[in-house]
Amino acid sequence: MRALCWVAADELAVREVPDPELRNERDVIVRVRRSATCGGDLPLLAGRDPLLRTGDVLGAEFLGEVVEVGPGVRRHRTGDRVVVGTSVACGGCWYCRQGLHSCCDNAHADPASVDPDWGRSDAGCFGRPRAAGGFAGGHAEYVRVPYADVGAFRVPDAVDDDRALFAADAAPTGWLAAELGAVRPGDVVAIWGAGAVGQLTARAAVLRGASRVLVVDRHEDRLRMAERHSGAEPLDYRRTDVAAELRDRSGGRGPDVCVVAVGAPPPDRFGGRSADRPDARREAVHACRKGGVVVVLGAADGFVDAFPLGTVTDRRLTLRGARRPDLRDVPMLLDRMARDELCTEHLATHRLPLEHGPQGYELFRDRADGCVRAVFTP
Ligand SMILES: [Zn+2]
Ligand SMILES: [Zn+2]
Repeated sequence: MRALCWVAADELAVREVPDPELRNERDVIVRVRRSATCGGDLPLLAGRDPLLRTGDVLGAEFLGEVVEVGPGVRRHRTGDRVVVGTSVACGGCWYCRQGLHSCCDNAHADPASVDPDWGRSDAGCFGRPRAAGGFAGGHAEYVRVPYADVGAFRVPDAVDDDRALFAADAAPTGWLAAELGAVRPGDVVAIWGAGAVGQLTARAAVLRGASRVLVVDRHEDRLRMAERHSGAEPLDYRRTDVAAELRDRSGGRGPDVCVVAVGAPPPDRFGGRSADRPDARREAVHACRKGGVVVVLGAADGFVDAFPLGTVTDRRLTLRGARRPDLRDVPMLLDRMARDELCTEHLATHRLPLEHGPQGYELFRDRADGCVRAVFTP
């Protein structure tokens, strides 16, 4: 089959790779219909993950049709249209039973490879190298989905592929951010980053009853999109004093909940080392009201120095983080999609055949041509 493979730093190629096969009785094979670029791919694309290997198949977010079913699978049949959650989780360990699929203890093919860096391995993830379980991703014609009863979800007929695709990762991540922030009716919520996850965090906050949702970014088109589709108020940080605006629009206190959804761009952009732009995490901590919650989303942020820990203790802030979503919210989000409460298809600003995957990733990486997400069809 054909698949979009990592070749070297900033180099991807569509290559012929072996078809996936059922390996365990709880596996299914999915024929991919759509797959999307993901912010977590960018550090990989740049070659910043030492465990990445030439030939690794990328693609954390995908949707397709079940074409083969292992004998231990209960919930899926051939022909089912499914969206597959980005986290690979066993469904039976202590963490999975708490609904913390992203912390699963059993779904990592090589936990020893990450223990020294991360303390403990977390769940596996599609389209990530050995550091995240070594599971081949969805930028391919077919994907092996382990623990399919846990991680694959039937898509209601009322939800089309373009919308359901984002129930794999971007929508549950946005929902999780609002949940970790404990967003309550009447809250003022500020979000740094107007990419897909930032926009869906904004939408989740609105659905949970936030009275004001503010999105901070420098890309006019994304800010407009966030405003139109989620009801957020845009703040262009090139033109506004963000801290003053946030205080102003929250009764002088600062937002109740601050979410950092800027992804993990190269260190010179948001890493706090560039002179023209303060670190988004630091800005969020400084802006939050006393007793508020700061949620940091991020893949492979590693160590961030000069973090304002003093502000966290002085202001009695709660700091929470997540790297990828759990699986428990996917059915609820698909229901909301079926009721048109949650729309996501506008995020797919670029639709390309899988063959044009390398160009799609260039657009996505450079945020060129208004690209929020590129979606590939094999
Ligand atoms: Zn993602
Ligand atoms: Zn588990």
